[in-house]
Amino acid sequence: MRKIELHWQILIALVLSVLYGIFLPEYISWVSWMGVLFMRALKMIIVPLVLTSIISGVANLGSAENLGRLGLKTMLYYLSTSTLAILTGLLFVNIIKPGIGVDIGLSKGIEHIEASRNTFSDTLMQIVPKNIFEAFASDQMLSIIFFAILFGYFITRIATKEKDLMTNFFNASFEVMMKLTMFIIKFTPIGIFGIVAQVITENTNSLQELVSGMGKYMLAVLLALAVHFFITLPLILKYIAKVDPFKHLRVMRSTLLTAFSTSSSGATLSLTMESVENGSGVSSKITSFTLPLGATINMDGTALYECIAAIFIAQAYGYDLSMLDQAIIVVTALLASIGAASIPMAGLVMITIILTAVGLPLEGVGLILAVDRVLDMLRTATNVWSDSCGAVTVAKSEGETLKI
Ligand code: ASP
Repeated sequence: MRKIELHWQILIALVLSVLYGIFLPEYISWVSWMGVLFMRALKMIIVPLVLTSIISGVANLGSAENLGRLGLKTMLYYLSTSTLAILTGLLFVNIIKPGIGVDIGLSKGIEHIEASRNTFSDTLMQIVPKNIFEAFASDQMLSIIFFAILFGYFITRIATKEKDLMTNFFNASFEVMMKLTMFIIKFTPIGIFGIVAQVITENTNSLQELVSGMGKYMLAVLLALAVHFFITLPLILKYIAKVDPFKHLRVMRSTLLTAFSTSSSGATLSLTMESVENGSGVSSKITSFTLPLGATINMDGTALYECIAAIFIAQAYGYDLSMLDQAIIVVTALLASIGAASIPMAGLVMITIILTAVGLPLEGVGLILAVDRVLDMLRTATNVWSDSCGAVTVAKSEGETLKI
């Protein structure tokens, strides 16, 4: 019998899980464990994967000059696409004006919200871990990446015999992690079935929110995400990277569906690396550096969403935002997206940073809470799509020949 391709398996799982969540919510515990187990397995591999991939990637780069050039290109891509995403969001929220006339009473459900205490300077400081094992244990990705880059770099600075030994060791460990990833990927449809059935059961009331005035807000986020996903990023692929965006999208199908279903770019990272490397043909030298970094700091979907959500809240509260306010929102949305963790609903918490920056009430977050989960799915898929386009663009600029 012909094997059904993974993305079809995932799509079938998605449809079945939606039906299950709607019609059998009382039996959710029969299937939700599959999702929990799958997420645990994905999370299990994040730290060792990021560690081995970056150490081996940087060690194979060989010199500080190569590392600097790659780092610079990657950062340039990440910052510019996130900024483009925010500007797209800004445009749509100003055209659609979803917040005008929204009933603020909706936000009463929230008793009190604390502003995210993670300021940008805190995030910067935490890049340098004071205890690397604590960083491993609490998934502090930026610290882990920082340590791994240093470790990989200094492997290239030791005597040849030891250098080869260490490089081979980390290359081999990375290969083991990729094999392990491929094994876990086989369970994606089952895992996604459990995750999405649970999400549907928990969120059936957001359908009511849709009719009660949240529709315009969701539409603004949806349209802006669609423009960034289907127009801006493909144009970058076509004209800057000079590859076929459709081919790359085909390669990324299963990964994007997984990002959508798990709402976590961190949990999806292993699949992203597998597809970009084996499907699109980007060298592991580039994927192993750009993708873990991208999953952590490059969140175009989140950046765009932060901007729309903050302005939506301002509109709902009847605040007139000056040009300066909007500029502050653009900059803080960028910082918030960099600082957001690659886990479900991280972006929601980060909105408090923007609200604080422009003096809006934090309770405003209550307005968008109900429909956050479904928007989270869409923005996570956009985040992962942008990471993968970044890896492709950087690879092409380094003169690699790809399969797309
Ligand atoms: N869930 C998103 C991600 O993992 C972050 C967010 O909440 O916006 O990419």
